[in-house]
Amino acid sequence: MKALRDRILKDGKCYPGGILKVDKFINHQMDPNLMKRICVEFIRRYASTEINKIITIEASGIAPAIMMGFLLDLPVVFAKKKKPSTMTDMLSTTVFSFTKQREYHVVISKEYLREGDKVLFVDDFLAYGNAAKGIIDLCKQAGAELVGMGFIIEKAFQHGREVIEQAGVRCESLAIIESLENCEIKLKED
Ligand code: 5GP
Repeated sequence: MKALRDRILKDGKCYPGGILKVDKFINHQMDPNLMKRICVEFIRRYASTEINKIITIEASGIAPAIMMGFLLDLPVVFAKKKKPSTMTDMLSTTVFSFTKQREYHVVISKEYLREGDKVLFVDDFLAYGNAAKGIIDLCKQAGAELVGMGFIIEKAFQHGREVIEQAGVRCESLAIIESLENCEIKLKED
């Protein structure tokens, strides 16, 4: 997606350890207009797929997910990183965060992810695929069908796509970063 690639090159900042900062337009300050264009592109790519629910993981996935839900008129569920004291019946899994270098539990109420659901997962980044692995596990536990995963930015050099494709799930990303070596952003052409 050219508009996204151009924006990454203009406003993205590279950090040591293969981290790209996009907090000027995606995950701190947000550009709703660009987010809408991102979601329209996800919708175009998944146009022939039956979906009844959008899922994501807090916090950075919530913005694209709510935009997707709004445009498709579908409910949106986000996996929580802290179990609310009021949640009794839930599905739970563990995810390793490489940006925070720690493991955390992720939960979704059994009420909102069920057998028969056809869910599309969206998130800001695909890196090593740890969050994706957790979502694949939660959907499996629920008996829900994960019809696809959509990422705004994929860092191809961290190979998360392999985790998703090995699980037999379709993966779409709108900007693919081939390398961040020497803090230079190298993007794959469409
Ligand atoms: P994964 O689980 O695929 O290893 O990493 C994906 C998650 O880590 C995303 O939900 C995202 O929030 C965070 N993440 C991974 N890489 C980056 C990055 O380069 N920049 C930012 N801002 N977040 C990242």
